[in-house]
Amino acid sequence: GIVAAAPAQDLFLVQSPNVKYTEATIETKYTYRTTAITQNENGKYVASPKETLYDFKVDRKIPKLGVMLVGWGGNNGTTVTAGIIANKRGLEWETKEGKRGANYYGSVIMSSTTKLGTDANTGKEINIPFHDLLPMVHPNDLVVGGWDISGMNLAEAMDRAKVLEPSLKQAVRKEMATMKPLPSIYYPDFIAANQEGRADNLIPGSKACMEHVEQIRKDIQEFKSANGLDKVIVQWTANTERYADIIEGVNDTADNLLKSIKEGHEEVSPSTVFAVACILDNVPFINGSPQNTFVPGAIQLAEKHGAFIGGDDFKSGQTKMKSALVDFLINAGIKLTSIASYNHLGNNDGMNLSSQKQFRSKEISKSNVVDDMVAANSVLYKEGEHPDHTVVIKYMPAVGDDKRALDEYYAEIFLGGHQTISIFNVCEDSLLASPLIIDLVLVAEMMTRIQWRAHNEEGAKYAGFHSVLSILSYMLKAPLTPTGTPVINALAKQRAALTNIFRACVGLEPENDMTLEHKLF
Ligand code: NAD
Repeated sequence: GIVAAAPAQDLFLVQSPNVKYTEATIETKYTYRTTAITQNENGKYVASPKETLYDFKVDRKIPKLGVMLVGWGGNNGTTVTAGIIANKRGLEWETKEGKRGANYYGSVIMSSTTKLGTDANTGKEINIPFHDLLPMVHPNDLVVGGWDISGMNLAEAMDRAKVLEPSLKQAVRKEMATMKPLPSIYYPDFIAANQEGRADNLIPGSKACMEHVEQIRKDIQEFKSANGLDKVIVQWTANTERYADIIEGVNDTADNLLKSIKEGHEEVSPSTVFAVACILDNVPFINGSPQNTFVPGAIQLAEKHGAFIGGDDFKSGQTKMKSALVDFLINAGIKLTSIASYNHLGNNDGMNLSSQKQFRSKEISKSNVVDDMVAANSVLYKEGEHPDHTVVIKYMPAVGDDKRALDEYYAEIFLGGHQTISIFNVCEDSLLASPLIIDLVLVAEMMTRIQWRAHNEEGAKYAGFHSVLSILSYMLKAPLTPTGTPVINALAKQRAALTNIFRACVGLEPENDMTLEHKLF
């Protein structure tokens, strides 16, 4: 039988000659349909439908998963930890607006749905939670740990963060107080000087060295065995670092990067040291901050080891709006001519970003987010033409974690007219970022259990996806993609990629929204 073991924990099963369930796997034969373009001698485009056959294999066994956060004692680290505890225990707490309960709002995996198909009898759409498309880890089952250069336990650190309601903090305080970040590496030149005061929980040494790499590897191994974990994922949610200079012979190749770490070169950042440690042990590493952790040598090292990396910079508030709004405007045929983005925020992230070099990292990651959408519309924009785009960030202690993002979108419309859209967006920063941290972990983990091969290749072995996990783009501001491949910032495209790759893994066609069944009768 093709539908051998009807999966008990699965919400649905796929009945198709191309899909086979075994005890351990879901195996599919998948036809990937694209359009190949060439130009003929008259310069005319010739579009040819193309089919590529793949086999996908999904490992159905859900592992016991740990996540280790670098910067665990920060606003994001404490908020995501408290949030998972609250969900695990099904907590409710009093607020001035009445009782509130734990949820995973803001997580595309946990709180959004996706259309599975159309009811064969009624014609109605059947939507299911995104989380049920594939056998994914549930965030309530995550074991959280990590490092911080500040030694505060997580209960004190949560107070310092000033994010959560007092009543919620009260309910999780006891458990959080037992959690204490591991000592971390601190190379003062990479983050703002104003952070020095919290650096009291350090592994000795103030520049890159192999001992640091080895200590981090050991920390991961110990966390894994102490908690009986099958797998660990590491995520950088520590301070934004300045950019590292890319220097020939230093960080341009995998070998040079390892050599530079051994020799203690000053241009290797803490985040790159963490990335290297993870790559060497095949532990997926995701960078939630904007700096160039993944110098060319780090990417090459990941490719050599077949280790997963993803980045850069969580896409939570202002940029998420931007990648949705600009997608809409330009696809509506409206000529966006300028974007002025202004922020002020008062948390520790804001204080760190008040330093010029660290702000510069953020400015870069926030600046390129409309490039692909502009480049795709040659009707509105001539070759090389681009809307003006300015990004300003100011530190304003009083507003704390409730970042203010003010955006003005100015566009040219029909016959020289103008449309101006002004947005005032209060982003409760850590409450927006925490669900993204969870999504990044869940999707990255899922990708470690998906394999592919070209169909019909006699004796071909299954392999994993490319080391650079561009499928994580939806959650990231400056998506890292395999060298030489396009960067997609448009939010709708990013979500479609995520959804449709997951659908392919269970042998389902992409969601195409044609609904011909409601148009042709
Ligand atoms: P935070 O300053 O509250 O937390 C960062 C933590 O990292 C601090 O506790 C600090 O002590 C620690 N740290 C610094 N250097 C370290 C090192 N080398 N090793 C270990 N720990 C170290 O900041 P946050 O608000 O939690 O944000 C974290 C990062 O995420 C920032 O870089 C921020 O730019 C980025 N980010 C946040 C959002 C958001 O919406 N919150 C969005 C995009 C990106």
